[in-house]
Amino acid sequence: AKKLGRNNFQFYTPAMNEESMERVRIEGALRNALERNEFVLHYQPQVDLKSGRIVGMEALIRWKHPELGMVPPGRFIGIAEETGLIVQIGAWVMRTACAQNKAWQDAGLGKLRVAVNLSARQFGAADLIASLESVLQDTALDPACLEIELTESLFMSDIAPAVEILHRMKSLGVNLSIDDFGTGYSSLSYLSRFPIDVLKIDRSFVADITHDANDAAIVTSIIALAHNLKLAVIAEGVETAEQLDYLRSRGCDEMQGYFFSKPLPAAEFEALLRQHSAL
Ligand code: C2E
Ligand code: CA
Ligand code: CA
Ligand code: CA
Repeated sequence: AKKLGRNNFQFYTPAMNEESMERVRIEGALRNALERNEFVLHYQPQVDLKSGRIVGMEALIRWKHPELGMVPPGRFIGIAEETGLIVQIGAWVMRTACAQNKAWQDAGLGKLRVAVNLSARQFGAADLIASLESVLQDTALDPACLEIELTESLFMSDIAPAVEILHRMKSLGVNLSIDDFGTGYSSLSYLSRFPIDVLKIDRSFVADITHDANDAAIVTSIIALAHNLKLAVIAEGVETAEQLDYLRSRGCDEMQGYFFSKPLPAAEFEALLRQHSAL
């Protein structure tokens, strides 16, 4: 209690003030960004470790702000979630990613899968299923070519409604994956109760697999856990050949990371696909 005054005082330091000013500025600008078409998606390839082929891509949002330049999601997704704007932004992401995937398929670039991140606010929205349905219908994308990435935080509160929503999503024919697997605090029991298809090993475990025996053990165990549950497993944040070799030797199914490619603007991703399919 003694320190309260001090903490209160700290709240008004210039740095904090600048930070909260920026939040207010970003929030205002976010409200207009959709109408002004300022969001873009970048696509990062997901590679099958047995064949070496690109089998999918994760859609990652960026904000092309007229003054701030290219704003990474880490700087605005949190604000979008707090304000609820993420529901509209997320719907745009879903529609754009599905339409893009269908266009690439129609152009003969292969039947790839596109992975889209779903925020907790979207998961809780009453019209989630209807909105997914209409995107799939409008874009005519095969639902099997859409993967929805969820985080463990969704499963921390009320399990029963979450199970129900997940089953309704599954019944649309889409794939469900758990993003950042192993970083949340939720219990593992949900894995046997929820209709999940894929685990994505968080990149914090992958970063040190070749130097840290504990991280290596965790990654090896996650791969075994996934396979015992008949789930596929993708490693995120693969940056080196050594990490790739390790993951392959442990039977990891797919990888995603700078070692293969950074997330790319649509035109560059398409060029990569063309080059790749000519191999
Ligand atoms: P995430 O879903 O875990 O996405 C992976 C992040 O890791 C991406 O950052 C990607 O660029 C980065 N990454 C990929 N490979 C590597 C690597 O080899 N090394 C390192 N150090 N990083 C790598 P990004 O694009 O900045 O996205 C950050 C987070 O923002 C995402 O983390 C996701 O939580 C969120 N996000 C991005 N797009 C969306 C979206 O459309 N909707 C929602 N709700 N969240 C999104
Ligand atoms: Ca993700
Ligand atoms: Ca992740
Ligand atoms: Ca470590």
